[in-house]
Amino acid sequence: MAGMEPYLFEGDEHAELRKQARRFAKEHIAPQAAAWEEAEEFPRELYGEAGATGLLGVGYPEAWGGTGGDFGHLLVVAEEFVVAGQSVGTTIGLGSHGIALPPIVRFGTDAQRERFVRPVVAGEKIAALAITEPGCGSDVASLRTQARRDGDHFVVNGAKTFITSGTRADIVTCAVRTGGPQHAGISLLVIERGTPGFSVSRKLKKTGWWASDTAELSFDECRVPVENLIGDEGGGFAMIMGNFVTERLAIAGQCVAIAGLAHAESIRYAREREAFGRPIVGFQVTRHKLADMATRVAAARALVGECVTRYLGGDARPSLAAMAKNAATDACSEVCDHAVQIHGGMGYMRETLVERLYRDARLYPIGGGTREIMNELISKMEGY
Ligand SMILES: Cc1cc2nc3c(=O)[nH]c(=O)nc-3n(C[C@H](O)[C@H](O)[C@H](O)COP(=O)(O)OP(=O)(O)OC[C@H]3O[C@@H](n4cnc5c(N)ncnc54)[C@H](O)[C@@H]3O)c2cc1C
Repeated sequence: MAGMEPYLFEGDEHAELRKQARRFAKEHIAPQAAAWEEAEEFPRELYGEAGATGLLGVGYPEAWGGTGGDFGHLLVVAEEFVVAGQSVGTTIGLGSHGIALPPIVRFGTDAQRERFVRPVVAGEKIAALAITEPGCGSDVASLRTQARRDGDHFVVNGAKTFITSGTRADIVTCAVRTGGPQHAGISLLVIERGTPGFSVSRKLKKTGWWASDTAELSFDECRVPVENLIGDEGGGFAMIMGNFVTERLAIAGQCVAIAGLAHAESIRYAREREAFGRPIVGFQVTRHKLADMATRVAAARALVGECVTRYLGGDARPSLAAMAKNAATDACSEVCDHAVQIHGGMGYMRETLVERLYRDARLYPIGGGTREIMNELISKMEGY
C-alpha cells in the first residue's frame, strides 16, 4: 500500500513477525470481523488463540511468559491486526493489556509479574487499565477513587468509566487515591475480578470500536491486598504519565494503519465503481483525492516512525509522542472522511468497511489524552 512501506526501524525479524501476525489476523479475525463488530463482542477464546502463538507476548520479557522484542515489534503486530484483521475493535480489545501491563512489568515485584503478566500474555486472563472516572478524564490528578489503608488491605471506594475490556477483565490496573490531593496522592493497585465489592456497573454503547467492550466499573468497600500495590505508594501519577508515551505512540500507529487501510479500500473501490461510462478513478478529482490521502498517510507514518526510532534509542520525548498522536489522528480522520466520500452512498452503509473505519477513527483525538491536552503538553514542554 502506498505510504505504508515498513517503518525504517524494521529489520528481518520484524518482517517475519509481520507475516506471522498477518496470517493470524487473516485466519482468526478477518472472517468474523464484521459479525463481531455488529455483535459488539469477539469470543473470549481469541485471547487464548493469540496467546498460544506468542503474539500477545510480543514486547514482554520471556522471563514472565512474553515472546521478547520491543515496542517496535508490538507496533508491527498491531498494524497487521488492523490491516489484515479489518476489525479495529477486536485489535483494541485483544491489545488492552498493552496499556495495563507495562506499569507492572516496569515497577512491579517479581511475584506480581508472575501473577499478573504471565497469564495475560498467555491469553488465559484479560487485563484492563482504569484511570478515567465519571468526574475526571483529562485532569488525572483530580481523580477521586479512594483507597484507604486497613491493615494488610486497601479498601477501595469509587467508580471508573470508559474502561476498555472492562466488562470481562480479570486484572484491572487501577489508579486510586491513597494519599492527599493532586498528583502525590495517587497510587496504582491491581484489582482482580471476583474481589468482593468490585463490579461492572454497565457496558457502554459507542460510536465505533464496537467489538471492543467498554465499561463502567464500581468499587464499594472493595478490599484489595496491599501486595497488589504497584511500585511506591504515591508514585502512581509518574507511572501513569510514563505509560502515556507508549500508549500515544501505539494510538498513532493504529491511526496510520487505519488510514492506510481506508486508502487501499478507496483505490479498490474507485477502480471498480463506474459512473458516466468510466471507473471513478478515471476522474482527476478522485485520483488527486487518493494522492492526498497517500500523502497524509506517508507523512504521519514518517513522524510515527521517527518517534518510535527515538524511543527505542532511549530518547522518549513526550512532546514528540503528542505531536505524532495529533498528526496521526488528524491524518486518520481526514483519510477516512475522504474514503467515505469516494465510496458515495456505499460509504454510508454499515456493510462497507470504510463506514466502520470512519466511526472507529473518531475516538482517536479523544482517547489516550485529547487533542487539546496533547497541545497543552507540547506547549508546556516546548516552553511557549
Ligand atoms: C472508547 C474509549 C475507550 C477508553 N478506554 C480507556 C481505558 O481503557 N482506560 C481509561 O482509563 N480511560 C479510557 N478512556 C478514557 C479517555 O482516556 C478519556 O475519555 C479522555 O482522556 C478524555 O477525558 P474525558 O472524556 O473525561 O474528557 P474531559 O477531560 O471532560 O474533556 C472534555 C473536553 O474538554 C477539553 N479539555 C479538558 N481540559 C482541557 C484543558 N486543560 N485545555 C483545553 N481543553 C481541555 C478536552 O480536550 C475535551 O475536548 C476511553 C475513552 C473512550 C471513549
